[in-house]
Order: sequence, then structure tokens, then C-alpha cells
Amino acid sequence: MHAEILTIGDELCRGEIVDSNSAYLAARLWDLDITTRWMTSCCDDEQDLAAALMQAVGRADLVITSGGLGPTEDDLTVEVAARLAGAEVTIDDSSQKKLEAVFAGRIEVTSTQLRQVRVPAGSRVLGNPLGLAPCFEVTLGSVPVICLPGFPREIAGIFEGTLTRHLRELREARGNVERIARQIYRVFGRGESQIATACAGLVDGAPGTSIHYQVKFPEVLVKLVVRDRDAAAAEARLAGLDHSLRERLGRYLYGSGDETLVERVIRRARAAGVTIATAESCTGGMLGELLTRMPGSSAAYVGGAITYSNAEKVRQLGVTPETLEAHGAVSEQTVTEMARGARERTGATLAVSVSGVAGPDGGSPDKPVGTVWLALASPSGIETRKLAWPSTRDQIRLLAAWWALKMIDTAIEGAAS
Ligand code: ATP
Ligand code: MG
Repeated sequence: MHAEILTIGDELCRGEIVDSNSAYLAARLWDLDITTRWMTSCCDDEQDLAAALMQAVGRADLVITSGGLGPTEDDLTVEVAARLAGAEVTIDDSSQKKLEAVFAGRIEVTSTQLRQVRVPAGSRVLGNPLGLAPCFEVTLGSVPVICLPGFPREIAGIFEGTLTRHLRELREARGNVERIARQIYRVFGRGESQIATACAGLVDGAPGTSIHYQVKFPEVLVKLVVRDRDAAAAEARLAGLDHSLRERLGRYLYGSGDETLVERVIRRARAAGVTIATAESCTGGMLGELLTRMPGSSAAYVGGAITYSNAEKVRQLGVTPETLEAHGAVSEQTVTEMARGARERTGATLAVSVSGVAGPDGGSPDKPVGTVWLALASPSGIETRKLAWPSTRDQIRLLAAWWALKMIDTAIEGAAS
């Protein structure tokens, strides 16, 4: 089942707002095994909108629009959809009652206000739990066209309310619809091309099966997709590839599904009763920020130190001035003392430290920009790692934080036993 998403609005076409509605809608449709093949945007212009709608219903099995349902003169979706459907424009009773109840005693209900509760006569009204302008569906040719308001929050409310069920019904009513089984494999520590090389040939010859790579820096998502008219057959073929794909991705595969590395670290640390401390230099607290993003992280993360200067490394973590003098702040010796100091001072099971040259200045021939040292102090001792990845400051810092997470993730099992 192939969909087209049509987003409407002058602000979109002027670049004043980013079209997040298309991304949101495509993701929700994909969850429902509906493939979005086209995404179009047009201005608040009657002719352009009519042309875009006609083009969409000429090629897609389902069209979803967003925007232009409001009360102002530039909100044209109802008029255009009604005209193309050969229907009158009418006021939706229940939406009018809701508007009057919301406005009661505060705002006068004018004809302008009532514009936002209009729908094409005969359309199917799907409501709007978080707003006033109702979502509706008209059929153009034989193609369902679902018109949503522009506000992202309202769209999400409609989707989570009536629309998901309605789209499932549409899909079932079509019958014989291709079902999609998919799995996301999350890989960290290897670049996209190395991963693609490792996976080469995996799906060759497998019917309806494809593999996709998405760089979501600093990780890479490998996506397996299997299409079949029989949902169970698609799932079975997907499961049949799981083992060999995992083998090819090897130790760089850290998980599958929606769980990110930091979510995995917190979940596993909590389950194992392992606590974590951080000692950060070049990441400036980013690691702590990542670890504390999730509710419930306090059960695993105790805190840490942001020691950007040498003096703070000495004062807060007990790094010796001699070590700093002899080896510099970005060195195996310094991160070792940082991690050991953080572990001793916090009493955490694991402490991780990061110190690096994030650039753009400050590099030297023996420590060029992108040199990062990490250390992990655990009950079984100290482990260190050196990164050498010349890149932008933002990327170096993010990569360093993720490597620190990866080192924690690897250490959790051993630390628990
Ligand atoms: P109203 O006219 O009542 O404000 P509407 O249904 O006519 O609502 P629009 O005017 O098109 O919708 O959009 C309302 C707001 O929603 C915009 O100002 C913008 O902030 C946001 N919005 C609209 N379209 C998009 C989009 N494609 N992606 C993200 N945000 C959007
Ligand atoms: Mg509007």
C-alpha cells in the first residue's frame, strides 16, 4: 500500500518551518506497513493545492495532507478537497459544539471562527482531540484522502486516537496488502562502508528482502526489511536472517530495536546493581547529560566531575601533577588516574574517564586533533582505549562520549559477578 504525504503552507515553502509533519507521518505509516513513496509540499494556493492533490491521487493508494484547516483566508484545504470531491462545504456539528463550549463566555463565535470546523459534505469526520479543526477523509477517484491540521501536537493526538485504527481498517479492506517485517540492528564502532562490506550478499536472492544502512552519528543503523503478502511468512524470513546478520556485525552490534546505547547501559546497570561514575574533560559533561536523560537513571548513575583544567583534574580527582607534567592531560596515564580517582571518591562500581583534543586548535604532531584517551576503572582493574578520529569538534566529543558508554556497557557483566 503506497502513500503520498502532502504538506501545505507558505511557511514550509519559504523554509520558515521545517517539515517535521512529513517525517512524523511517514514513520507512523511505516509502522502500519504502509510505504510512503512521495512527499510533496505546496504553498497556500488554491490552484497549486488542487494540482498537488490530483497528482497525489493519480499515483498513490492513500493520501494524507497536513495544514490549511484553520480559520483564516489562507486556509484552503477544505474548499479544495470539497471542490475536487464535488461536494458542498458544510459545518461539522460536533466540532461546532466543541468550539462553542471552548469559547463560551470568552470569545465570540464569528463566521471566521466557524471556518475551522468546516468539512466537505459527506466526508468522514475523524475529529481532533487536541484541537478544534477536525480531521476528515474524502475519497477522490477511489483514493482516500485524509486531511489533518498543521499543528504537530494535534496530528499526534489524532494519530494516537482514531487514525491508527482507521488506517488499519483501510489496509485490511484493501485486502492482499503487502505486509512488512523489519528489524533494526544498532552498530557502534564501525563505519557505514565497513558494515556494508561485512553484510554484502546477505540478502541476495532472498525474495522481497532488502537491507538498508542509516548513519545516525556516531552509530549506524542496519535495517532489514522483508515484504510478503503473508505477515507470518515475512516475520519468519526476517527471523531466518537474524543469526547470520548478527554474526557478520560481530562485536560492533550492541543491540536491536529501538533501545539506544545509553538506554541499554542504564537498563543493564540497574538490573545488575552496578553503579557508574564519570570523569570528563573534553566532553564537558556530555556523558553525564546522556546518562541522566532518562528517568530512573539515578538508580545507576551516581555523578561525576567535569575537570576541564589540569588544576581541577588534580583537585577533584587526585590526578598527580607529576603525571600531568610528564604525559600531558591527554594521555593514558592521566585518564587512568582520572578514572581511578572518580571510582575511589564516589564508591561507584565503574568509573569512566575521557580526555582528548577536540580541536579545532590545540593539536600537536604526537597528539593531533581527534586524539582521545578513555579509561574505565572496574573491580577487575583499569582498561584504556585511544581514539584517533580527526573530525569536527562536535563529532569528536560525541564519539568520545559514546565510546565511554560502550566501555561501560562491556564492563557491566563482569562488574556484576
Ligand atoms: P491554523 O490555521 O488553525 O493555525 P492549520 O490546520 O491551518 O492551523 P497550519 O496553519 O498549516 O495549520 O499550521 C499551523 C502550525 O503548525 C504552523 O504555524 C506550524 O507551526 C505548524 N506546522 C504546519 N505544517 C507543518 C509541518 N509540515 N511540519 C511541522 N510543523 C508544521
Ligand atoms: Mg492555517
